[in-house]
Amino acid sequence: MLKIQPDKYKSIIFFTGAGMSAESGVPTYRGRGGVWSKYNWEEYACQEAFDRDSEKVLKFHELRRKSVLECAPHAGHTTIAELERRLPQLRVVTQNIDGMHQRAGSMNVIELHGSLWRLRCPTHGISEDIGENYRSYKCEHCNCWLRPDIIWFGDMLDQDVINDAHLVIARCDLFISIGTSGVVWPAAGFPKIAKGGGARCIEINPEPNDMSYLYDENIRQSAGLALPNLFE
Ligand SMILES: [Zn+2]
Repeated sequence: MLKIQPDKYKSIIFFTGAGMSAESGVPTYRGRGGVWSKYNWEEYACQEAFDRDSEKVLKFHELRRKSVLECAPHAGHTTIAELERRLPQLRVVTQNIDGMHQRAGSMNVIELHGSLWRLRCPTHGISEDIGENYRSYKCEHCNCWLRPDIIWFGDMLDQDVINDAHLVIARCDLFISIGTSGVVWPAAGFPKIAKGGGARCIEINPEPNDMSYLYDENIRQSAGLALPNLFE
C-alpha cells in the first residue's frame, strides 16, 4: 500500500473534479444521470438564458445549492483540509463549483469554474452568498440582476484564475489528481505542467481514462478511501 510523507514535499497540489464531489452524493452535471440529462443547459446555464429570464436561472441555481447542502464533505475532503493546516503551501485546484473543499476547512482553493456561493453584479462586482436561498436576486446598490459567478456554457474561463493554477502547478513537487477525467482543457494540460516542473504525479480515480498514462502512480479507489490511507 502506497504511503506518502507529506513533510517531504515543499508544495502539494490536489486537483479535483466531479468524482470528488460525487462521492459525497453531490449530483454531477455531465454524463449519464447528470444534471444536464434532466435539464436543458440552454435554459439554465448560459448568458443568453440569464438575459432571457434571470429569475428562472437563479431559481435553478438555488436548487443546485439545496442539493449541495444536503451532502457533507467525505474523508477525502477532510484529509486534504487537515494537511493544509500543516502545510501552508498546499493548494487545491478544483473543477467543482460546490464549495465542498471549503466546507471541509480548505482555505486555499482555486476554483476553475467559479462558485455556486458567489453572485456578480456587472457594476459592483462579486459578492458571497452562502445560504440555501439567495439573500436577493438583485444588487442592493443598483437593482441589477445578480448573476451566479460560475463559468457557464459559452463563457470564457477566467484567465487570471487559469494563470494562478498554472503557476502553482508548475512549482509543485507533488501533484495528486482526484476524480477527474482530465480530458477537457485546461485540465488536460495540468499533469504535463506538473511533470515538466519535476513533480511526482499520482492519480486517484476508480476508473482509468485517456490521461491516466501521464501519472507515475494510479490508485484505483475512491478518494474517501484512498486519501486517509495514503497520508496516515
Ligand atoms: Zn450593482
